[in-house]
Amino acid sequence: AKAYANFDSAELATWKAGEPVPFLFLASTFEAIANQPKRLQMTQLLVTAFRTILATTPEDLLPAVYLCSNQVAPSHEGLELGIGDSILMKALCQATGKSMQKIKDDYAEAGDLGNVAAAARAKQKTMFKPKPLTVQGVFKAFQAIARTQGTKSQERKVDLINKLLVSSTDVEPGFIMRALQGKLRIGLGDETVRVALAHAQSLHRHGADNADGKLANRLETAVQAVKQAYSQCPSYDALIPALLQYPIEDLPDHVRFTPGVPVKPMLAKATTGIAEVLEKFTDQEFTCEYKYDGERAQVHYTEDGKVFIYSRNSENNTGKYPDIAAIVPSMVREGVKSMVLDCEAVAFERATGKILPFQVLSTRKRKDVEVADIKVQVCLFAFDCLYLNGAMLLQKPLTERRTALSQAVREKPGELQFALFKAHSYTSTDVEELGTFLNESVAAGTEGLIVKTMDSTYEPSRRSLHWLKLKKDYLEGVGDTLDVAVIGAWFGKGKRSGVFGAFLLAVYNPEGEEFQTISKIGTGFSEEQLKQFSEELRLHTIPTAKPYYRYSETLLPDIWFDAKTVWEVKCADFSISPRHKAALGLADPDKGISIRFPRLVKVRDDKTPEDATSAEQVAEMYFKQALTSGQQKGKQEDE
Ligand code: ATP
Repeated sequence: AKAYANFDSAELATWKAGEPVPFLFLASTFEAIANQPKRLQMTQLLVTAFRTILATTPEDLLPAVYLCSNQVAPSHEGLELGIGDSILMKALCQATGKSMQKIKDDYAEAGDLGNVAAAARAKQKTMFKPKPLTVQGVFKAFQAIARTQGTKSQERKVDLINKLLVSSTDVEPGFIMRALQGKLRIGLGDETVRVALAHAQSLHRHGADNADGKLANRLETAVQAVKQAYSQCPSYDALIPALLQYPIEDLPDHVRFTPGVPVKPMLAKATTGIAEVLEKFTDQEFTCEYKYDGERAQVHYTEDGKVFIYSRNSENNTGKYPDIAAIVPSMVREGVKSMVLDCEAVAFERATGKILPFQVLSTRKRKDVEVADIKVQVCLFAFDCLYLNGAMLLQKPLTERRTALSQAVREKPGELQFALFKAHSYTSTDVEELGTFLNESVAAGTEGLIVKTMDSTYEPSRRSLHWLKLKKDYLEGVGDTLDVAVIGAWFGKGKRSGVFGAFLLAVYNPEGEEFQTISKIGTGFSEEQLKQFSEELRLHTIPTAKPYYRYSETLLPDIWFDAKTVWEVKCADFSISPRHKAALGLADPDKGISIRFPRLVKVRDDKTPEDATSAEQVAEMYFKQALTSGQQKGKQEDE
C-alpha cells in the first residue's frame, strides 16, 4: 500500500486528458516490467500504468488491457495473433531496408525477433519523425492483422506490419514483434493483469489513503470482484465497460454469465488413491461420477435456438461436432429457452453401446467437419448444468445443479446421456465400497471416478478441492499423469538416424511465464510415432532456446522447438534434480524436480503449452509422493 501512496497520475502522463494514450507509454511499462525481477514491483508498475490511463483517457483502458494480455478478442472468438516468423521477417525487411539474409542471420544469433527489430530500427536513420503510435492504433492494427484472411492475406499482413514498424521508435518495435508472434511474455500472467486492473480502479476511485486502515481490504475486495466477474464472463469487452461504469464491488452483478460466452471450466484435483479421498471428504456428502475419457464440451443453447460447443480452453468447437450441435435442440425439454451444460464428448459405438477410448476420438477431424463424413460417433455425457432459463447456477450447490440438469434435457442412449454416478448423495468411510465403484467404472470403459462434494458450488477455472480425481492408474500405483510441452530433441542414432531419438520435456510456471525442463524422454515410442513426431516437431524448430526456457547447460538438446506440442506422460516417480528446473525453488532452493521413466500416454491437442502441468502442481505431486511412500523429501535423482 505504501508504494501507491505518492502517486500523481498527471505527472506521469505525457499526453493531455482525453487524448489518445501513446503506445510508447505502454511499451515503456512493458520494458520496465521485463527488467524488474521482483513480482510485487512488476504488478505495481502495471497498476501505475492503468491508473494513469484511468485518470486521463479511460476509453483507452480496454485496448491497453488487451495489449497487456497479448489478445485481440476474448478467446472464444478464436481471433488470434501468432503471426508466422516468415511474415514478420518480410515486414521487417521492408521497414528497415535490410536483406532477408541479414535478418535471418541476426535472428539466429539473437534468438528473439523482437530484439532484432529493435536493433534494426535503432540504427535506421529517418528523414522525418513518424507520427507516434497510439494504444488504440496499435490494437486496431493487431485486430486487422489477425482478421486478415483469404487470397493475398500474406501480402496484406506484411503491409500492415510494415506500417506499424515504420512508425515505431525506441522500445516499441521489440514489443510489437513479440506481441504479433503471440509471445509477449513480459513475465506477467493473465491473473496478474486482472489483479492490477482491480487495484488500479480501486485506487483511482477511492485513493490510496489508509487513514481508516482499510486500504488492503478495499484492494482485496476489488480483486475478488474482478476475478469473480471475469470467471463468470471471461471477456474484457464485457468487464472493462462495467468496471468504468459501476462500483467495483458490484461487478459480478453486471458482468454476468450469458449463453454464448463460455465460462472457464472447473477442474479437479489429483489424488493418490481412495484413502486420500475418504480422508478429505470425511463427514461430507459426496457423489462418485464416472470419469469419461473424451474431450470437455461446454454446451450452450441460446434463446434464439443456437448451439455452441466450447473446449476446455474456451475455443469454439462447434465446427468439430456438428452432429452433437444438431442433436441438442431435440433433447431440450419443453419450456427450456436457454441452458449451459458441462459435458464430456466421448467416442461411442452406438451399435454395441460401447464407450471407446480417447485415441479413437482423437482421429476425428478438428475443424469444419461435415456430418456426412463422420466415422467416429460421439456421445455427450452431461455432468453439470451451469445455466437454465436465465438463471445462473454457478453459485448453487451441486445437488441443485444436478436437478437442473435433468430439468434441462432428456437422455437419449448413445447420443446424450447423464454421467453415471454411484449413489446420488452419499457419505462413506468404506474403502472397499469406493474401490468397487472404481473397478466398475474402469470395467465400463472409463478412466475412473471424479468424486464431488454435493454442497460445492461451480468454481470456474479453479482446480478445486471439491472435485477429486480417482483414476484407474492409481490402482497400478503409478500416480497421476503430467501434461508437458516438448521444447527440444536429440537426433536418433543407428536405426533411428533421420528421426529424433529423444525429447526434452517441460512444465509451465505461470507465475514467471516460463517453461522449466522436467525430463528427457527416449523410450517407449514406436518407429511410426518417432517418424510422425519428428515431422511435426521439425516445423517448430527455433535457432536457440527461448529466453523463457529454464534448462541446464549440462543437458542441451541438439535442437530447440517453440513450445507448441503438449504430451501427456506417465512416470514412475519424482525426484529432486540438479539438472532439471521444474518447480525450481519450491521443493529445493536451488534444484528442480524431475520425473523418472516417463512414458507417452497421448498427444494432447486440446491443451496449449500454457495448460501444461504447472510448477506448483509438480511440487504438490512430489510432496505427496514423499508423504505416501515414506521417502525422504530430499531424495536425489539417481541417474
Ligand atoms: P485437467 O483438465 O484437470 O487439467 P486433464 O485434462 O488432464 O486435467 P483429467 O486429469 O483426465 O484431465 O481429468 C479432468 C477432466 O475429466 C475434465 O476436464 C473433464 O474433461 C473430464 N471428465 C470426465 N468425466 C467427468 C465428470 N463426470 N465430471 C467432471 N469432469 C469429467
